[in-house]
Amino acid sequence: MPAVKPKAPRPKAPAANTLADKLARLGLRTDMELVLHLPMRYEDETRVVPIREANFTGGAPVQVEGVVRTCEVSFRPRRQLVVTMDDDSGTLVMRFLNFYGSQTKQLAAGTRVRARGEVRHGFFGDEMVHPAYKVVLESTPLPTALTPVYPAGEGLSQVALRRAIEQAMQRIDWHDTLPAALLEKLALWPFRPAVELLHNPPPDVDENALMERSHPAWTRMKFDELLAQQLSLKRSQDARRTKGSRPLLNVGKLSGAFLAGLPFELTGAQQRVLEQIRHDLRQPWPMQRLLQGDVGSGKTVVAALAAAQAIDSGMQAILMAPTEILADQHFRKIAAWMAPLGVQVAWLTGSLRKKEKEQAREQIVSGQAQLIVGTHALIQDAVQFSHVGLVIVDEQHRFGVAQRLALRNKGLEAENQPHQLMMSATPIPRTLAMTYYADLEVSVIDELPPGRSPVLTRIVDQNRRDEVIERVRAAALEGRQVYWVCPLIEESEALQLQTATDSHAMLSSALPDLQVGLVHGRLKPADKQSVMDRFTGGELQVLVATTVIEVGVDVPNASLMVIEHAERFGLSQLHQLRGRVGRGSASSVCLLLYQAPLGPIARQRLAIMRETTDGFEIARRDLQLRGPGEFLGARQSGQAMLRFADLETDQWLVEAARDAAGRLLAEDAPTVARHLARWLGEREDYLKA
Ligand code: ADP
Ligand code: MG
Repeated sequence: MPAVKPKAPRPKAPAANTLADKLARLGLRTDMELVLHLPMRYEDETRVVPIREANFTGGAPVQVEGVVRTCEVSFRPRRQLVVTMDDDSGTLVMRFLNFYGSQTKQLAAGTRVRARGEVRHGFFGDEMVHPAYKVVLESTPLPTALTPVYPAGEGLSQVALRRAIEQAMQRIDWHDTLPAALLEKLALWPFRPAVELLHNPPPDVDENALMERSHPAWTRMKFDELLAQQLSLKRSQDARRTKGSRPLLNVGKLSGAFLAGLPFELTGAQQRVLEQIRHDLRQPWPMQRLLQGDVGSGKTVVAALAAAQAIDSGMQAILMAPTEILADQHFRKIAAWMAPLGVQVAWLTGSLRKKEKEQAREQIVSGQAQLIVGTHALIQDAVQFSHVGLVIVDEQHRFGVAQRLALRNKGLEAENQPHQLMMSATPIPRTLAMTYYADLEVSVIDELPPGRSPVLTRIVDQNRRDEVIERVRAAALEGRQVYWVCPLIEESEALQLQTATDSHAMLSSALPDLQVGLVHGRLKPADKQSVMDRFTGGELQVLVATTVIEVGVDVPNASLMVIEHAERFGLSQLHQLRGRVGRGSASSVCLLLYQAPLGPIARQRLAIMRETTDGFEIARRDLQLRGPGEFLGARQSGQAMLRFADLETDQWLVEAARDAAGRLLAEDAPTVARHLARWLGEREDYLKA
């Protein structure tokens, strides 16, 4: 007989669903949190309209007050409570399809009632269906403020929420966290009147300004919120400075030889950002710099020179890329630059065999490898960063938050944290950079290498495929190469593979005299590589590809890009893809094929692509089309953490908050502490993730 296990203790009965529980579910635990729970709209109960005029308001909600004459349950057309009431001017029916028995007593004849709702002409004459109402006395005064309507959770009534907030307002400490001089300088309202107005606006308030959140009371709330965010971000930035890093002091032999061997001169922009990076790397605290530059602006050379500084200073450098294709390309390119100069380059990706991985790790741990290139396999647990002086992350926006945190924590384990250089071709609009990226320094390469001609973009109906294929043939006959990109099909990877395979078959048979290759995400890394090699080497004239080629691939001889179903791509993706051509001196063309009919957003996107090749402009328009939340993914954008401010419309406030944060941190620690305590309380950690 099996032994009888003692019964696990019964889980305790769930805590009673008290008001406090319901409030906690909304994140309202403290009095201050309640007070900062601001209304989403208001109802005007400050005015009463004569019943006779109430039906002339065109369906807008109105409030009337009258005395109940009759109150009966009617069964025609169905069971309902029908209450007639009148005032000096006329009669109105209140009709309730769902009602409690007690309501027949509450609304007995002779009761004075204030009712709010929309008046319609219905079955029983002028009527309000399910009005909000309350029983009043003739002497009951009208409220003097608009009635707030709060965001509320299930089972939590507005009345209960209002009362809880009113009580909290009696208890909190109202002192202003900000110095009067700052308020005056920015023409900001003091805290208390701003909060009081938002909870209980006087009837003559500019209601539009309240709804649009442009009222000065809202401005004050937004500023406070943004200031808290900036203070918190800047503090974590300062905390980073207290961490140690090995300063990389030598810009020596390797850097010099590398520069001397380059077949071109650095552009002015490359030189400028290189100086910024070199300066940071010499500091005894970790650099965290974001290097932004449009597609093709030449970030890789700058990264290689940063790596050279680490190696010249006796430390290792790591270069991490989001895909195997890109990592491999970096490996080859940088190995080709560095190996002849005597640098030991190692390679680590997820697809290596176990033994090869161990070897690579060994080279990394022993310090034998000086430059290590790979994918995020590099930040997995078994790899130790003991000698690493610099980590370079290419196309960093392609890495998820989790991977970024892993990298950050990886660095924390080491006694000396590595410097970090993050690169991105997706230009981040200024306001986003100041919030989400507030703890990064930012360098921008705002100039393309000379001799590039802008890519000409055409939008072409998919029906005209035959003409497009002729252009492919013509380009190949001129010795040029062609990318043919098939869309991402989100619903099904198999389907995506199918479309790429179909396009490959179609092009191969339409262009029998050309070599057409196919590359997609399902290929084994070695096969993927061999196709890429044959394309890079010029053996393949046409490369049919899925979006695996989106990032970083660099084949200067390719001058025609065809994108099928371009209407399915996002703007930044189209820009990245288009950036694969126009890298040589030949004039390049990008054909965006679309399937009619186009929706309005897709039409705008394609028009933007035709109008401009400037990545920053495209990002700006993208932000307009999509809003900042989606631009980087809600969780990453910084917007997700903001309740009141809007990164797009409140740009000046973001800048003002940033300036103020810098000054307060330098000069006024007590204000910083007070302000963070009020606005973040225990949530500060969350902001840093
Ligand atoms: P991205 O910024 O998109 O990563 P890359 O670093 O891949 O751009 O550079 C794009 C191409 O431009 C490469 O072929 C690179 O060798 C070349 N390149 C980079 N800098 C210069 C320069 N100053 N002059 C000429 N060509 C350059
Ligand atoms: Mg690149």
